[in-house]
Amino acid sequence: MVPILLLGVPGAGKGTQAKRLVARYHIPHLSTGDMLREIETSGSAQGVQIGHDMHQGNLVPDTVVCQVVGKRLQRPDCRNGYILDGFPRTLPQAEWLIGFLHNGASFRPAGPIIVVYLTVGYNDLYRRLLGRRSCPECGRIYNDFTQPPRQAGVCDLDQTALVQRHDDDPAVIRERLSAYEERTLPLVQFFRSHGQLLEINGAEPVNRVSERMFAAIDPFIAVPACPPTGGGQ
Ligand code: AMP
Repeated sequence: MVPILLLGVPGAGKGTQAKRLVARYHIPHLSTGDMLREIETSGSAQGVQIGHDMHQGNLVPDTVVCQVVGKRLQRPDCRNGYILDGFPRTLPQAEWLIGFLHNGASFRPAGPIIVVYLTVGYNDLYRRLLGRRSCPECGRIYNDFTQPPRQAGVCDLDQTALVQRHDDDPAVIRERLSAYEERTLPLVQFFRSHGQLLEINGAEPVNRVSERMFAAIDPFIAVPACPPTGGGQ
């Protein structure tokens, strides 16, 4: 089993590319943002605190996120690998992950962790984040500038009204980008020595990014002939 980790600034296209990785390698997509939003909506005291951090554009504390991820990685659908999207985001999280994979995890990697580092310039990023919309029903992601739905504001697949994430507003975006620069960018250097870092230009058209990503990953992972049974997150 080989974990794939998606690294990149918010809006680099990690969520979109993660879905394509799922379709190709048939391993689950684990997005810490989605996991945390789920806890937030549970209404628990922890959920309220998590929601507060997320709405401000701050990172949720490392101990909380590592605990959530550690629990998720023990589930049986992770036995053949998984795609980590949005984790780790700080050096302590990265160090925790390496320690966990070598000592605590039920499923240990057969080789180096594959780290896909999606790079995008800041001008593109603002457009992508401000234009991002998703379908609350099927999860499909659109962008008013780069990938609009056929009918404005409505999902092509199930005609549900599209929504914008709370944290995709300009002030929160600035906070998220500064948190990224300060705390996540150092991980690029970390994974040069603790993984197989694959740098991909995320500013290219979505299909081209996927092609380049698959070409870089395929030598490390066997592409399954047919999908195994069992679900994702
Ligand atoms: P995302 O959907 O990955 O953009 O994450 C949305 C928000 O969830 C982030 O802005 C953080 O507040 C929180 N979050 C997601 N992943 C992490 C993480 N690994 N560490 C800390 N906070 C996180």
